[in-house]
Amino acid sequence: MKVFIACLGTETNSFSAMPTGWTNFEETMLYRGDATARTATTFSLPMHVWKKATEEHQGQVVESIAAFAQPAGLTVKSVYEGLRDELLADLKAALPVDIVLLSMHGAMTADGYDDCEGDLLANVRAIVGPDVVIGGELDLHCSITPKMVDAADALITFKEYPHIDVGVRAAELFEICAAAHDGLVKPVMAVHDTHMINMWRTPISPMKEFVADMQAAEGEGGVLSVSFAHGFPWQDVTHTSAKMLVVTNGDPDLAANTAKRFGQRLWDMKEETQGETISMDEGLDAAAAGPGPVVLADVSDNAGGGAPSDSTFILKRALERGDQNLLIGYFWDPVAVRFCEEAGEGGALDLRIGGKCGPASGDPVDLTVSVKRILEDAEQTFGDARMTMGTAVWLTSEAGIDLILTTKRTQVFHPDGMEQLGIAPASYDGIVVKSIQHFYAGFAPIASKVLYVSAPGAIPRDYANIPYAKFTDSYWPRVANPF
Ligand SMILES: [Zn+2]
Repeated sequence: MKVFIACLGTETNSFSAMPTGWTNFEETMLYRGDATARTATTFSLPMHVWKKATEEHQGQVVESIAAFAQPAGLTVKSVYEGLRDELLADLKAALPVDIVLLSMHGAMTADGYDDCEGDLLANVRAIVGPDVVIGGELDLHCSITPKMVDAADALITFKEYPHIDVGVRAAELFEICAAAHDGLVKPVMAVHDTHMINMWRTPISPMKEFVADMQAAEGEGGVLSVSFAHGFPWQDVTHTSAKMLVVTNGDPDLAANTAKRFGQRLWDMKEETQGETISMDEGLDAAAAGPGPVVLADVSDNAGGGAPSDSTFILKRALERGDQNLLIGYFWDPVAVRFCEEAGEGGALDLRIGGKCGPASGDPVDLTVSVKRILEDAEQTFGDARMTMGTAVWLTSEAGIDLILTTKRTQVFHPDGMEQLGIAPASYDGIVVKSIQHFYAGFAPIASKVLYVSAPGAIPRDYANIPYAKFTDSYWPRVANPF
């Protein structure tokens, strides 16, 4: 058994002005044939799993590129084509192969390519022919398209948000594809469009039970895999809405019925799963009331959704109110970090912070700060992976608010990203994390409360009014009944 493995992806925010080019890929992840010899990141982890599983099956692995860019705006055409063609050239050189396994995000748009994953999978199919098994693992914030489903034998998405199940899903995809190669199963897929735009949090009810029931349905009477592709609300393409995706063993009706049954259940609990957000003042009031630490998610400035991660709206509001003992991060501000490096640890300076990327970032804030700690090559934990932060700086301010700056644009994943700077997160009344949900697994254990704050920013949660141009389907919550 010869297995070809690769990774290519990003999550494209169609409303972000920040182009996704070579620098973003090089800074985030760009390995050429040696990703499994490196530390696993979220999107290279499946390749580690597939390599190990292939070797356990006495098979041979051919490893191609592992390329991922931090979510931002449209991918530059030549960059997508360059990476795709590199992957396809590796595949041609590896022929004949038995199985192709791809780690993709599923919400990548490039200039001229609304459906990068469909394009990639169709090109792979054209090269390997109809008999080779093609499997793909996707982030659940993906857009499932007919082109992807036509080209692949089996697609599965993460089930958990935060994405703590990347490795488990990779192992499941391997088992399905290996069984298909051995002639033990014949995967067929069906998709059910829920006609909904929302973000669903899986650690809490009723989504927690929904995920458990998806898992319980697998293995029952020919169902091989049940995925819920939540969709990515800020990728403006024809297929943006959330979809159920089911793989069965040779039974298209069972696949369609199972997808529809779970889709109906999502529809029935739509009000219950509509994310609750509060105002900046409500969040800051909760932190001030204690007990701490109250974790406030600045959902509108989540770098993982393509936001700049340097917005100052909550910082500015907290300063106006005179709030104290708050920690806010991570501000993507390489210029301010440079100033701190010149001042050195222990130095004090007047510093202009954040608000640099555009109107969605708000205005810069001027503060008198002390540089407590500067750490090069800072990292934070995310599930089984380690995520880089670049140089991180811990600042205290005369105003009583502490800040963390980074040179790499990243959302907040885990308190260890703060602790490595000498910070004790639990000592604050409030911690403002620029993230929508991936912080949750790490911070919930230390938080007295987790609240989701709707501040201004690049990715506001007003799903009914996202100004789509290409996604023209009727959807909830824009209309009450989109069917
Ligand atoms: Zn995601």
